[in-house]
Amino acid sequence: MVLKEYRKKRNFEITSEPSGGKVMKSKHLSFVVQEHHASHLHYDFRLEWDGVLKSWAVPKGPSMNPADKRLAIEVEDHPIEYGKFEGRISKGQYGAGTVAIWDHGTWSPLGNFDKDYAKGSIKFSLQGEKLGGNWALVKLKSGRSKKNSWLLLKEREQKENQEDRKSVV
Ligand code: MN
Repeated sequence: MVLKEYRKKRNFEITSEPSGGKVMKSKHLSFVVQEHHASHLHYDFRLEWDGVLKSWAVPKGPSMNPADKRLAIEVEDHPIEYGKFEGRISKGQYGAGTVAIWDHGTWSPLGNFDKDYAKGSIKFSLQGEKLGGNWALVKLKSGRSKKNSWLLLKEREQKENQEDRKSVV
């Protein structure tokens, strides 16, 4: 069931996080990056898809440098309303600590998201306030790494390449 894992981990009588009453679909797909000061600081990277937020915890956060490969651990789907959540998750609760929105905006899949997600290689563009351009999430083979491990990568921009070429000429 959708959001079952999310709800199982939380007590909504205590936490101020949304329970996600309904699966919501919107016209433009949203994304959010939340800075989460839990036991370890990490950045939660979330892409709206099929009425929920597909979610990855990125310990070092996204990098605009295409040379950086950032580990992204896939976690349970979150409700769409979670994209607006900021504040404190109380002590003793799952993910206790503070959450602040680090970036948000819209995103677009480049390719067939469902198929690419199943294959473990997703390309997409972000239209945020901090993050833009084309990105990829690539799942690591299990065995060598923990399952649910992906890499979040910024793709090199076409424009940069053209400018590189120009400067060579
Ligand atoms: Mn988190």
